[in-house]
Amino acid sequence: MSDQMLRCPVCATELAPNLLTCPKCRRLVHSDRLKALADTATQATNPVDALVAWREAVELLPPGTRQYDTIQAKITELGKVVDTLPTPPASSSPSAEKTNGAGVGRVAGLGAIGLILWKFKAVLLLSLTKWKVLLLGLTKASTFTSMLLSFGVYWTMFGWPLALGLVISIYIHEMGHVVTLMRYGVKATAPMFIPGVGAVIRLRQSLGDPRQDARCGLAGPVWGLGAALGSYLLNLATGLPIFLAIANLGAMINLFNLLPFASLDGGRAFQSMSTNQRWLAVLGLSAIMSFCEGKETSGLLALLMIGGVFTALTGKAPKTGDRPGFIAYLALVAVLTLMLERLTPMPPA
Ligand SMILES: [Zn+2]
Ligand SMILES: [Zn+2]
Repeated sequence: MSDQMLRCPVCATELAPNLLTCPKCRRLVHSDRLKALADTATQATNPVDALVAWREAVELLPPGTRQYDTIQAKITELGKVVDTLPTPPASSSPSAEKTNGAGVGRVAGLGAIGLILWKFKAVLLLSLTKWKVLLLGLTKASTFTSMLLSFGVYWTMFGWPLALGLVISIYIHEMGHVVTLMRYGVKATAPMFIPGVGAVIRLRQSLGDPRQDARCGLAGPVWGLGAALGSYLLNLATGLPIFLAIANLGAMINLFNLLPFASLDGGRAFQSMSTNQRWLAVLGLSAIMSFCEGKETSGLLALLMIGGVFTALTGKAPKTGDRPGFIAYLALVAVLTLMLERLTPMPPA
């Protein structure tokens, strides 16, 4: 049975499992599937559904071909469309809103307060769909188990209240990545906690576009900052020092993730910057550092700068950089640094 599937339907040449084109007649191995995906994508009314289809299609095409480049360009374009949408569209789930009209109806259903919140999409953590999605990762057994394990490890290090806050902070950071990846139609795993290190999500597809990659990378620290600020507000409301400690540790972790090294969130942001922007970012970092009084914060900022200089000198940079990504990067570093400088360090255990 499988023997039949491994032969080219045109010239009957036997095909190795990973081949994308027939070595003899050059026919695309997955041409039927590609046609179906192209139909799905062109008929999709939701840009996220189109993105999902094009992303699957691009994996079935040999890189460097004209078709590959064409579809990659469509993915880049659709990413920009997604960015301009007022509401983050749901992914290809059956309940996803199909038209803008339906979306407006849903917003109206949330009432005046919901509408105001919706308008400020920077207030990511407050929108209702986000809360729903926030719990999504927890339904995965691997996430939940690894989270518990991490919690246990941190418990022995910091005691249970800080450990719990830390695990929740990391979880929110990771879900920022997951939600943004879903927005761009990328398949990714739920977060997996690694005790003592943090957590990771694995992409099942590559983003292929440095700008979208940067947005997905920065979404982690943006949500993480939201978590730290939330904890800070809880401290103000309750007066409990533990919330201050959680906010402080969260700010530290998120700032660390903005280091401009390869697989870290900051590295992704730098990949989308032009060489000029990278030097400007280094300049911005030095300006932020000059306001630092704390030794640890200045040390971390020095590391960020070294990484930035290294990336500016050695990395391959796009000709036109991603300006919102560049601004978001510096803004995140500035606010997180401010939090670390102003919030008193951990209370005595
Ligand atoms: Zn063939
Ligand atoms: Zn991250």
